[in-house]
Amino acid sequence: MQERYNISLRYLKGVGPKKVKLLNRLGLKTIEDLLYYFPRRYLNRSKLIPISQIKEGEYQAIKARVLARGDRESWQRRGFSIVEAAFGDETGKIYCVWFNQPYLKNYFKPGIEAVLYGRVEKYQGRLQMVQAEFELLSGDKDAVLNLAQIVPIYGLIEGISQRYLRKLIKHALDEFIPRVCDGLPYALRKRHNLLNLAKSLIYIHFPPDENLQQEAYRRLAFEEFFLYQIPILMRKMRRVQKKGLVHRVDGVIFNSLMQNLPFKLTAAQERVLLEIKKDMGAGSVMQRLLQGEVGSGKTIVAFLASCIAFDGGYQAAFMVPTEILAKQHYERIKYQVSNIKYQDRKIKIGLLVSSLGKKEKEKIYRELKEGKVDLIIGTHALLEEKTKFKNLGLVIIDEQHKFGVGQRALLPKKGSSPDCLIMTATPIPRTLSMTIYGDLDISTLDRLPEGRIPPQTILYSPDKRKEAYKFAAEKIKTGRQAYIVCPKIEESESFGKQSALEVYRQAQEEFRGLRIGLVHARLRQVEQDKVMSDFKEGKINILVATTVLEVGIDVANASIMLIEQADYFGLTQLHQLRGRIARGVHQPYCLLIADPKTDEAKERIEAIVNLSDGFKLAEEDLKIRGPGEFFGRRQHGLSDLKIANPLTQMHLLKEAMEEAKELLRLDSSLTQQQNLSLKEALKKRFPEYEELMAVG
Ligand code: ADP
Ligand code: MG
Repeated sequence: MQERYNISLRYLKGVGPKKVKLLNRLGLKTIEDLLYYFPRRYLNRSKLIPISQIKEGEYQAIKARVLARGDRESWQRRGFSIVEAAFGDETGKIYCVWFNQPYLKNYFKPGIEAVLYGRVEKYQGRLQMVQAEFELLSGDKDAVLNLAQIVPIYGLIEGISQRYLRKLIKHALDEFIPRVCDGLPYALRKRHNLLNLAKSLIYIHFPPDENLQQEAYRRLAFEEFFLYQIPILMRKMRRVQKKGLVHRVDGVIFNSLMQNLPFKLTAAQERVLLEIKKDMGAGSVMQRLLQGEVGSGKTIVAFLASCIAFDGGYQAAFMVPTEILAKQHYERIKYQVSNIKYQDRKIKIGLLVSSLGKKEKEKIYRELKEGKVDLIIGTHALLEEKTKFKNLGLVIIDEQHKFGVGQRALLPKKGSSPDCLIMTATPIPRTLSMTIYGDLDISTLDRLPEGRIPPQTILYSPDKRKEAYKFAAEKIKTGRQAYIVCPKIEESESFGKQSALEVYRQAQEEFRGLRIGLVHARLRQVEQDKVMSDFKEGKINILVATTVLEVGIDVANASIMLIEQADYFGLTQLHQLRGRIARGVHQPYCLLIADPKTDEAKERIEAIVNLSDGFKLAEEDLKIRGPGEFFGRRQHGLSDLKIANPLTQMHLLKEAMEEAKELLRLDSSLTQQQNLSLKEALKKRFPEYEELMAVG
């Protein structure tokens, strides 16, 4: 049965080889894919609005007749076509415009009646709908399906029309619905009052009314959350049961570092350290996510955890996303080690980055393998085949969002069940982190060390650029240093003028007498390092840079940051960048030059100017971008959620999580009769399911 339902679309009537190719491009290969290709929106004819009552700026549906072709003829320009038609009802007139769909002009003959759906704007003093979705009410041969009260509207590509897709999906539903097998156990469905799968699939595509559409949606979203949680929870159960290393906590090395700290740990750091100690001292494998915003002091916590590993004779590996950061950690930690008082042992710190010479690398490989290096700090280079450890006991991954899940999993494999500490400067709301990182335990550094002064963020429009530069120059005169951040290295057509190269050139004129440096990812590593260390030592006043700055760089005297084309950056990225200047004793200033054009860009800029708390900003960013974009595809399956939205359906997500926990408590490997369909559903929805289960 299952196989029949998973068959190729080719077996559907009306799907030839050409259409198969097109459907594949929409990500649709099997009948099942098709049934799970949910509408993006619905056109609800029961909510038609007379043209005279239309509200600008909103999505609305109207019913109107084509009056005549528009005042402007449809015309062509450089292969770019515009079809325009004037529509009217008894109350008024509106213009509809479609780009790049020249064939539409055949539809809109005067007198034809249609339902149109889209966002209404005022353009040159008249009402206009751009790229409206439409249904012809007359002159349409396939009108049957399209005349229902609520009609689905799908995401399309050229060559696949709404009509075609509707017919195809209807046909697939008619033929294959009897074979659909419900993955959600009956008892669970009853408890939560959920529709069965067959009904939900029918109603999500062709809802008889709004209420049933909502119910179908709730059921499918629940299913998605539920299926998504299970592998995560299973993994966590496996891990908790797995035997790990028992580290010696409060040993000599750990204690002597504690006694020689250059500062007093914050209460948050103390708390997190306790959580880590508890994990490392226990017999299961630690998988802890340490979230704390930029500057909250994660590095020292990580280093203290390393000392716990050293005390038992284990090695630790510390992976960071960039060479600059690796070197900075290396320098700082080496300095801290030199303060440690211990008698019987010397701590050796190593650095492994790709730019090392062959000989140096070979030496490090050897020392690691022989156990002569206690802590290795490095980039992706650590993942290379040749990196082998004598007894790796702790893995630390900094700025985890810069690594893929696969990469993260590689490093622990170089030891036998080492403990793992994963660090992120992008904190997310707790309910969400609990589900997304359900397989990790979470620690949070929710306070910055005392005495930090929050940055003042000031927005300048591009025509006020001179003022921003003048402001920066005044601060630099008092001895401070400044960063100027640009989104791109070079000028390009799709992108404005303020490239790093250009800004560097301008800055040399603007700030005569000051020393200016330039750093970006295309410089050779040695050159980048030279500039960075010159900046650190104060030999350079102003550093023009790209986002290589985003992670980790720490220069206390740099208290000014000017960001060119700030609207180009993501919210989290802006916050990370700004975090670079909130380290010292001087009032930090973040000057944004931006002319945000889209609503989204405006929201972002407004948020960064008004909010300084990383948690609040992350929440805001999530709202603006949605979870898929926020976390990025590499992070985990969240972006694969087709219908469920963890932000707006937090309660549903929680319910699904509770049910998933309970189910696994009763049947941890899904072998009971009533859960077999669920297991099948998991395998289908997550092709990597079995592999996922295999990962320790
Ligand atoms: P992040 O969490 O962004 O990685 P770091 O670990 O780089 O932050 O710490 C930022 C700065 O704060 C460093 O210069 C570090 O030495 C300093 N720092 C860390 N903890 C404390 C503390 N408890 N008191 C004062 N300064 C601290
Ligand atoms: Mg850091």
